[in-house]
Amino acid sequence: MRLKFFFISLLVLSLASVIIFNRGESQINLRKEGSKIDVVIIDAGHGGKDPGSTSITKIPEKNYNLLIAKYLAEMLRKNYSDMEVYMTRDDDTFIDLKERGRIANSKKGKLFVSVHCNSKLPEESDKSGFEVYVMDAVKSNDAVKITQGENLLLRDNMDSTRGKTAFQNDFILSSMYSNAYRRYSERFASILQTELTKTTQLENRGIKEEQFVVNYTSSMPSVLVECGFLSNTKDEAYLRSKDGQYDIARSIYKAIRYFKMDYEWENSY
Ligand SMILES: [Zn+2]
Repeated sequence: MRLKFFFISLLVLSLASVIIFNRGESQINLRKEGSKIDVVIIDAGHGGKDPGSTSITKIPEKNYNLLIAKYLAEMLRKNYSDMEVYMTRDDDTFIDLKERGRIANSKKGKLFVSVHCNSKLPEESDKSGFEVYVMDAVKSNDAVKITQGENLLLRDNMDSTRGKTAFQNDFILSSMYSNAYRRYSERFASILQTELTKTTQLENRGIKEEQFVVNYTSSMPSVLVECGFLSNTKDEAYLRSKDGQYDIARSIYKAIRYFKMDYEWENSY
């Protein structure tokens, strides 16, 4: 009789543990889903009818952006078999800014990196170096204004004689923003700044947060990098060289690698 009771108890206990274990497992899985940087969106700025700025050697910005973005995607794909890497464009196609955000969101991106190159304004003196932008929040009214501004700038930009800067063309639309993403965007920007300083020949102009850079991918940490000035002789030669493009891609790759480790450690049990 006692033995029978023992076996029944054992059975009840093991059933309970299976139920508890499974519940625990599903909670962990749920949590795991949001705690991994397993989908990265790489956004090569401009493309197609939107060339971005033009370098001193008369090459459109969109070309430099795409080459760096492609190197970066290649490095990530090669080193992370379990990471999905999406490019908003992988050829010379025009994709509007809202569409880039939609692509990122539909792929459930966990990190968004936009690659651009800078140019100084015609009236400005020579500038060089990289800048990292944390994509910032705006109120919805501002977002509308900026959208209209972007459309105007985009049109202006097609006329290369107007000489608008890349930075002015880099307005990005936002309607919503979360503080949590901003915190991670800042962290990634800081890691990226360190890596670009260590690996590239570009001068560090720092992280920019204020001004008018706006997030259009509200559902993930997002950073925009201006990889140097196409209006500067030294920067442009570096950005045009395979070594330069590779160094920059490698810095972004390493920053993603460190950010991923840090983020996943923080979000694990
Ligand atoms: Zn640009």
